[in-house]
Amino acid sequence: MSSFDVVIIGSGPGGYISAIRCAQLGFNTAIIEKYSALGGTCLNVGCIPSKALLSSSHHVEEMAHFAAHGIEIPGDVKINIEKMIARKQDVVTQMVGGVKYLMDKNKITVFEGVGSFESATVINITKADGTVEKIEAKNTVIATGSKPSSLPFITIDKERVITSTEALNLKEVPKHLIVIGGGVIGLELGQVYLRLGAQVSVVEYADRVIPGMDGSLSKELTKVLKKQGMKFYTSHKVQAVKRSGDVVTVEAENKKGEIITLEGDYALVSVGRRPYTDGLQAEKAGVKLTDRGQVEVNDHLQTTTPNIYAIGDVVRGAMLAHKAEEEGVMVAELIAGQKPHINYNLIPGVVYTWPEVSGVGKTEEQLKEAGVAYKLGSFPFKALGRARASGDVDGLVKVLADATTDEVLGIHMIGARAADLIAEAVTAMEFRASAEDISRMSHAHPTFAEAIKEAALAATDNRALNI
Ligand code: FAD
Repeated sequence: MSSFDVVIIGSGPGGYISAIRCAQLGFNTAIIEKYSALGGTCLNVGCIPSKALLSSSHHVEEMAHFAAHGIEIPGDVKINIEKMIARKQDVVTQMVGGVKYLMDKNKITVFEGVGSFESATVINITKADGTVEKIEAKNTVIATGSKPSSLPFITIDKERVITSTEALNLKEVPKHLIVIGGGVIGLELGQVYLRLGAQVSVVEYADRVIPGMDGSLSKELTKVLKKQGMKFYTSHKVQAVKRSGDVVTVEAENKKGEIITLEGDYALVSVGRRPYTDGLQAEKAGVKLTDRGQVEVNDHLQTTTPNIYAIGDVVRGAMLAHKAEEEGVMVAELIAGQKPHINYNLIPGVVYTWPEVSGVGKTEEQLKEAGVAYKLGSFPFKALGRARASGDVDGLVKVLADATTDEVLGIHMIGARAADLIAEAVTAMEFRASAEDISRMSHAHPTFAEAIKEAALAATDNRALNI
């Protein structure tokens, strides 16, 4: 039986990054993945393919603005969805190949098969042909991720009533896509098909979309997406989803108790994801799950069995690739006896619609609820030279700072390139910057980043300059 210092189960961004860090620290490392493609949800059916389709469809959206830029396109624009999906798959294949390369480069042993515990130190790998290989692990990292969740009364048939996984592989542009759940995944994929010509209706139980993010962002994003043609049914509780041939009917109850019925040709169920531990036999290693099905971990990401750790979507916290990666690095360093730390308050959240949406730290709603006295500065993109030059004038940056100390408590933004701009906010907040600090740093002109400086100026005695 081969033996390893660290065995990682699952090759998503949590697992493969952890494997690399373990190898860097000198551990004899193995990774087990049940699929032949490495990279997990993120690379295969998550972050990367969704961003590939968002990028392709963004080109279509941009064409609507060509005329204003003096660019004329003779004839009609045609969408070749098969080619678009094939390109997306090429991007995925390249990324998956990249992970394989990194495993080889770092001399990490890759096993293909389902990993399950026989004990706290012995892991069985069940291969596709049914054969089982046993390996010994001094330490194990559970990085088995998550799967799309649904509602008890919905049958996902993967043809017309679909999850994000199928939505990334459609063979046609829906005529009317009904998105159940106005979170990040639903809005991103909804916008992809909206841009390609589908009618898109979003049904959301909460009173606003992207409910976890700052309220101003939800409001602004809803406004912009409505302008683009997306329809919203917030405060609507979906009660039934029925399929008859190619027609899907969604019934939802509004606040007044009235039932509305939407008829479409596809329904995308994007109501969240559930931690995935099927087949892991965690109990044989003494690893406990929470009542929500997550692997229970302490502050050191240690499970109820000390030599077994768990990271990423399968444990508590935001289901985000970069959170999984940070945890992957952290466990490797903990196993090596180091004292790493993750500031969970500073894990940024991003929505890759256009305009993009991002935020880090406390939202205004959270500060109000906690009774924290705060100052607010905000700045609209439409007052930026760079935004005017490119025509991306929708959006704003909002800086929240402590009323007494001026320390930045949260930065939230919607607008062009907000996904990349949030890195400045994270850096500033990691170094516990004040709004004054940000407002005194030189920001290149003309850039979208100037909106952060201006919002910081606005937060410090209303000193924004360009408005
Ligand atoms: P996963 O990526 O889910 O990987 C787990 C792996 O473990 C899988 O490959 C699985 O096959 C394997 N596995 C499970 N059980 C076993 C077993 N017993 N034996 C062997 N292998 C096993 N996050 C972002 O940060 N940014 C984004 O833009 C973003 N976009 C997304 C878009 C979509 C459509 C979706 C669905 C998700 C998106 N996410 C995004 C979320 C992101 O994909 C997850 O947070 C991330 O993949 C979690 O990483 P992980 O390593 O915990 O698990």
